[in-house]
Amino acid sequence: MWAAIGTDGGKAGANAGFVVGEDGVAVIDTFADPEAAKELLAEIRKLTPLPIRFVVNTHYHLDHVNGNDVFAAAGATILAQRNVRDWERTENLKWWGDKIKPEVKARVESLKLPDVVYDQGVDLYLDSRKLEVRSYPGHTGGDSIVYVHDAGVLFCGDLFWNHHIPNLTDATTGVWTKTLNALVGSGAGKFVPGHGEPGTSLDVRALQQYLEDLRAAVGLARAAGKSGDALVEAVLPELQTKYGSWGFFKEFAKANIKQTGEELAGSKRVPHPAGSAASAKPSAPYLPLRVQVGEKAPDFTLPSADGQLVKLSSLEGQNVLLDFYEGFW
Ligand SMILES: [Zn+2]
Repeated sequence: MWAAIGTDGGKAGANAGFVVGEDGVAVIDTFADPEAAKELLAEIRKLTPLPIRFVVNTHYHLDHVNGNDVFAAAGATILAQRNVRDWERTENLKWWGDKIKPEVKARVESLKLPDVVYDQGVDLYLDSRKLEVRSYPGHTGGDSIVYVHDAGVLFCGDLFWNHHIPNLTDATTGVWTKTLNALVGSGAGKFVPGHGEPGTSLDVRALQQYLEDLRAAVGLARAAGKSGDALVEAVLPELQTKYGSWGFFKEFAKANIKQTGEELAGSKRVPHPAGSAASAKPSAPYLPLRVQVGEKAPDFTLPSADGQLVKLSSLEGQNVLLDFYEGFW
């Protein structure tokens, strides 16, 4: 298997990868530009004449899907988490705001969408070689990793940025840090990030530490009454000291502070799955909770972090941390 590492600011725009099995090839992500995708296809062709059977899009961001048409034309079936199909042609317009050029808009609105979607994940087989595709929250709400168990290699997409400041535009850092525990817990020896060089679990932990430091620093500054530009000014020096040498610091650090401020304030806009409007019926075990401050909550059973079911009334007088997910818990 190979990792195709994009140069920061280069035409590829991100990393990709591919796995060769006995009866075909699976590609992970397709770069920011069809020309880069064609180069990747040409490199694969130098190594094997086997058919390109699958492409997995790790998430909807343009720098991971813009070469989909190149691989579809080569015969690949494109797979992704369900939200990628919902968001690919719409959410990708936002990177340009209202200054988007007509030809860019037309390109985004005609991007090749995934042919097959899944919710939690899917296993792919290249004859005997198994690829475990699994969805995890954090970076966009529709991200997947690809684990090649027989090689101990985990393709992480943008759930892992190796010594690069991540793009947090769509992120929920509170759950992302937990996702990183799961990735490290996979036991993989090699982690291929969406941006930066392949790394080890220590490098994944470094990103986790960054997200935790960012959340802590932004939380403290918010508690001291900072918001807007003052929040950025208060937090940036601390990040600069610790993470100033990371890639994309100039590009993303300030936005990271602002966006994390919004996340902690509960005002952050993140993309939502199609049909998840407030009126949509949540599936069990999530129940809508609407309680006025000072009002006694109705009593019901809820799952706790260790998998036990507990009655809400049994928690009276205790401090309880509720995890909110898509507006329901
Ligand atoms: Zn991304």
